[in-house]
Amino acid sequence: MLDFTTQTLPNPTSPEDRAAAMESLGFGTLFTDHMVTIRYTEGQGWHDAVLGPRQPIPLDPAAAVLHYAQEIFEGLKAYRLPDGSVASFRPEANAARFNHSATRLAMPHLPEELFVESIRQLVAADVDWVPDADKGSLYLRPFMFASEAFLGVRPARDYIYCVIASPVGGYFKSGKSAVTLWVSHDYVRAVPGGTGAAKCGGNYAASLMPQSVGIEHGCDQVLFLDAVERKWIEELGGMNIMFVFNDGTIVTPPLNGSILPGITRDSLHAVAQDAGYTVREEPYSFDQWMEDAKSGKLKEAFACGTAAVITPIGEVKSNRGGFIIGNGDGGEVARTLREALVGVQLGQKPDTHGWMTKLA
Ligand SMILES: *Cc1c(COP(=O)(O)O)cnc(C)c1O
Repeated sequence: MLDFTTQTLPNPTSPEDRAAAMESLGFGTLFTDHMVTIRYTEGQGWHDAVLGPRQPIPLDPAAAVLHYAQEIFEGLKAYRLPDGSVASFRPEANAARFNHSATRLAMPHLPEELFVESIRQLVAADVDWVPDADKGSLYLRPFMFASEAFLGVRPARDYIYCVIASPVGGYFKSGKSAVTLWVSHDYVRAVPGGTGAAKCGGNYAASLMPQSVGIEHGCDQVLFLDAVERKWIEELGGMNIMFVFNDGTIVTPPLNGSILPGITRDSLHAVAQDAGYTVREEPYSFDQWMEDAKSGKLKEAFACGTAAVITPIGEVKSNRGGFIIGNGDGGEVARTLREALVGVQLGQKPDTHGWMTKLA
C-alpha cells in the first residue's frame, strides 16, 4: 500500500477554540484541521498520498469535473466508544460501494485497504474532533473527482481523491422528530440504466429542484417514484425508505438498479431480523401506501441513512393527495431499531455482526 506523507499544520485549532466550536453541533458546517489527498494519473496509478492541512484545492478551469460531473462520494461516521477509543461502522462496505460508483462513472478504483487507511489517517490526526458519544460523531466524507484539464468528452486521465471530516450533532434532537414528505409525481431522481445506484454528486443535483418544490409545499424531504410507471416508491434524495405493517412485517423497495444500496438499509435488515421481525424486499406503490395508511394496515414509515440513522415519517403530501402515518409522530419499531443500531455504533451493545472497525 501507498505510504502517506504527513504535512504538519502550522497553527492547529487551539483546544479552547475547538471546544467552543463543538459546543452545539449541526450537520456539515464545522470542519476539522486536516484532510487526506491522493492523486491518480493514468499509467501511473495512485500516488502522492498526503495527510495535510485542510485547504482549498487548486483546480484548472478546464478540469473535467467542472464540465461533465465525474464525481463520486461516500459518507460514514467515526464514533467515540465508551473506552475513549474511536471506531467506524462498516467502512469496508463504503469502500466497496465507492468502487461500484467509480465503475459506473468510468473512474479508477481505489484499493479498499487504501480507502480504509485514508480514513484511519485522518481520524488519527483529528481524533480530538470526535465528539463524545452523547454529543454526536465525526462525519467522514471521502470523494473523488476528475481533475484533468480537457474539454473533450471521455473519461478523464487524472483524478483527486480526498477525505474531509466534520463533527456532527447527535441523533436525538429535541422537538418533533417525524418529517413530512413531498411525493414527487413530476420529477424523478434516477432512471433504469442510469446512475441512481451510484453515489455521485449528479444524482443530488437532479434532486435539488424537486426538493425545493417540496419545501414550497411545507415538506421536509422529497420521496421519488420510479421513472417508468411513476408508481413504485423508490427512495428519498439521500435516504432509503422502510414501511412497518400491523402484522409486524417490514417492507423496503428492492434494489432495482436505480435505488442507492444504503448501508444503513442493509444493517437495519439484519438488526430487524435479529429482533424477530420479518423483512421483505418488495415493490410498494404510492397508491397502496395511501390506502394502507388510511386503513391502518400501515403502522409506520421511516427513512434511513448514515446521517440521521432513522427519520420517522409523520405525514405525506403530494399533488395527488396526502395522508398521516400512525399518530403522525413516528412509532415504536423505528425507535426500537434505531436504539439497536445506534447501540452497536456507539459500542454500547455487542457487535455480533463484526461491523465496527477501530480507527484510533
Ligand atoms: C447515501 C445515500 C443513502 C443512504 O446510504 P447509507 O449507506 O445508509 O448512508 C440512500 N440514498 C441515497 C440516494 C444516498 O445517496
